[in-house]
Amino acid sequence: MMTDSMSTPIAAKLARPELLELTPYESARRIGGQGDVWINANESPFNNSELNKLNRYPECQPTSLINAYAEYSKVSADNIVTCRGADEAIELLIRAFCVPAVDSIACFGPTYGMYAISAKTFNIGVTNLSLTKDYQLPNAFAQQVGDAKIVFICNPNNPTGTIIDKDTIETAIASMPNAIVVIDEAYIEFSPQYSVADLIPKYPNLVVLRTLSKAFALAGARCGFLMANSDIIDLIMRVIAPYPVPLPVQQVAEKALSDNGISLMEQQVASLKQQGLRLTASLTKAGATVLPANGNFVLAEFDKVELIAAALKQAGIVARAYKDPRLAARIRFSFSSQTDTDRLIAVLDRLNQ
Ligand SMILES: *Cc1c(COP(=O)(O)O)cnc(C)c1O
Repeated sequence: MMTDSMSTPIAAKLARPELLELTPYESARRIGGQGDVWINANESPFNNSELNKLNRYPECQPTSLINAYAEYSKVSADNIVTCRGADEAIELLIRAFCVPAVDSIACFGPTYGMYAISAKTFNIGVTNLSLTKDYQLPNAFAQQVGDAKIVFICNPNNPTGTIIDKDTIETAIASMPNAIVVIDEAYIEFSPQYSVADLIPKYPNLVVLRTLSKAFALAGARCGFLMANSDIIDLIMRVIAPYPVPLPVQQVAEKALSDNGISLMEQQVASLKQQGLRLTASLTKAGATVLPANGNFVLAEFDKVELIAAALKQAGIVARAYKDPRLAARIRFSFSSQTDTDRLIAVLDRLNQ
């Protein structure tokens, strides 16, 4: 499949060449076998945990978890890889496609910092492009990314909370057919109508990243998903660890993706958005300029940001400020519970007096 040059899939064209030759590690778990005495993996026969089979290596890609995410995302199970959070997915993509000291990635800032950091840890170049002042893709972005192997677009964007409409994202994917275009949908549950996951069958260069860390309230579990055409999936499987998903993580993830789990998530998303509206009103009243919030956070710009920062600190409220000069005088507030929001609003109201 990866050798036919007439129809070389984009994954093979862009892959680090040595990966195409690589025989992937065959873990005992992957080789498998038939029988009831399992002595092929140097595991302990003793299970000292309440969790069934915790003494055994887990499946590399737990079928029931992949199926649960396929059902939730409406993406075919063949097009999904699960890993330790979207952060690991970013790293896997860079390791699969980028040759150190030769290749580069591109991203549009201000945006999530891990694209650039992950690239730099592998000595991969970073083309840092800027979003427009309305946080949209700049003109002629396809030329600006040059020969970047991977182009990251975060939608909704962290930390601005802004969104790029679906048609524009589709145009971007179509206009960069010689790059892997990664749409990071870490916050998509807060704006599901913007997802491009349904475009995966249409674009061989599209990758969509997802996570259970945000709307699904499982940041501590470390569970994310990379979704793409099967050529890209095959390549990712060559660089992924033999056992990326711990058994307890698989179990909590599957519970989160059950019907009950999904409706709990939807309820909590609605409630967080509600608190977000209260917070936004209060920030506006305090004189901040607030961007429309399409995720579970809002970015606010203040005239007297030091005053706000000091008041928050004194009240024991930890929000996020940035070093990027494009984000000067801005603070990002994650939406939280009613009680947390009450406290934050009280601090902002006091400043108004
Ligand atoms: C939080 C976040 C991630 C990381 O998600 P994990 O699954 O927790 O690794 C990735 N991308 C963006 C844009 C994020 O905000």
